[in-house]
Amino acid sequence: VKSGTKNDFMVFNKTIEHQSIERRLLENAFRIALKEEQFYLEYQPKMDMKNERIMGMEALVRWNHPDLGMIPPGKFISLAEETGLIIPLGEWILFEGCRQAKQWQEKGLENLIVSINVSIRQLEDPHFIDKLKRVLEETKLTPKYLELELTESVLADIQNTISILQEIREMGVQVSVDDFGTGYSSLSYIKHLPIDTLKIDASFVRDIHVNEESRAIVRAIIHIANSIGLKVIAEGIELQDQAKELCTEGCKFGQGYYYSRPLKVEAFEKFIQKSSIT
Ligand code: C2E
Ligand code: CA
Ligand code: CA
Ligand code: CA
Repeated sequence: VKSGTKNDFMVFNKTIEHQSIERRLLENAFRIALKEEQFYLEYQPKMDMKNERIMGMEALVRWNHPDLGMIPPGKFISLAEETGLIIPLGEWILFEGCRQAKQWQEKGLENLIVSINVSIRQLEDPHFIDKLKRVLEETKLTPKYLELELTESVLADIQNTISILQEIREMGVQVSVDDFGTGYSSLSYIKHLPIDTLKIDASFVRDIHVNEESRAIVRAIIHIANSIGLKVIAEGIELQDQAKELCTEGCKFGQGYYYSRPLKVEAFEKFIQKSSIT
């Protein structure tokens, strides 16, 4: 890049300014959104792949802004993390997901496990464990029906990973390692973590039916999981071929558009009705 001319500098500077204005606007909108409850959760079914039965659902946050329309989580989660606003948002997500799961159980949809994504800032919050306990008390959700999804990189980055995971699991809440295979953690490190499930990242699922390397990685992950007693779920399954290959490799659980997109509450209930008839 040629630099040094006044024009270049001004163009560059303007872009930065533009970005920071956009950010400030978004940040303000975010604060209002929290107050006015513009956020809601969608639920994506997690399937037992062999019998195509639902075993749980991942809660995914959505932001429907009155003027801007739908803003995808990819656009606001990182902002929420940088500004610390993920703490109040994350608390709301945790409460709402548990409340909804409990309501579904009371309607007779038993044994469904709700999975909730937790960001690094939440986990670093010294009050996180207390908040988690309070949510379970207030919603009366039996802890074993709650699973927290923590990414591999988050687990590698926080200070007291083991002790915080122990506290979570002592409460009876399950822990799943999200985006597994994309981080840097060695497999011997995983062996020492008090966790329940490995969630194979979508990047390996995408080409498992055509790429021998992806298949080998998936096979290795499943092998490790089996040998240390962890459950395995694959995410991002879009094709029957991918589901078939995963089953062949011994992966029991799966999630992705092939089974269902993330659904609003009503659509999720319809999905369950439909799948329990067949
Ligand atoms: P993630 O936790 O890895 O979630 C999976 C993402 O893949 C979701 O995108 C989901 O809608 C999408 N997905 C599911 N099945 C398929 C498929 O078959 N094909 C494709 N191409 N995509 C599929 P979404 O909802 O846009 O969320 C993106 C990311 O934003 C999430 O990645 C997670 O990191 C973050 N996120 C979403 N909801 C929450 C939340 O409630 N709390 C926190 N902390 N982060 C969240
Ligand atoms: Ca997730
Ligand atoms: Ca994931
Ligand atoms: Ca991901």
